[in-house]
Amino acid sequence: MATITLMTRTALADALLAEDNAEDNGWLDALDRMTCPAHRRWLHQCCHSDLHVSRVSGHRWCRPCGRALEVAVDEVARTIALHCPTCGRGARTRADAQLVAACEASLTASVTARTRTAA
Ligand SMILES: [Zn+2]
Ligand SMILES: [Zn+2]
Repeated sequence: MATITLMTRTALADALLAEDNAEDNGWLDALDRMTCPAHRRWLHQCCHSDLHVSRVSGHRWCRPCGRALEVAVDEVARTIALHCPTCGRGARTRADAQLVAACEASLTASVTARTRTAA
């Protein structure tokens, strides 16, 4: 079990490094990353943080309601859902779609890393 945890961490470290480099070289948009440069984790593991709420770009933000969207991560179905507790809307804007896509990519990548290591 300890080995699996270590190997999973290595997969994360590799992905972080690859995305850091891609972003620094202009190949990757910061908001398309599936790893988080601030938390050094898979995006779906830290997208609940207030650091991922942006009033400027609209990420995890409901502009009409002026509040943060709630995010639900389903690790089994590998889906991410956004929800505004005030107006009840789900993912709708381009920023929402980008965040959902990045989180789902990080979910898939982390699960694939785990599965590959266990095999
Ligand atoms: Zn983060
Ligand atoms: Zn709302």
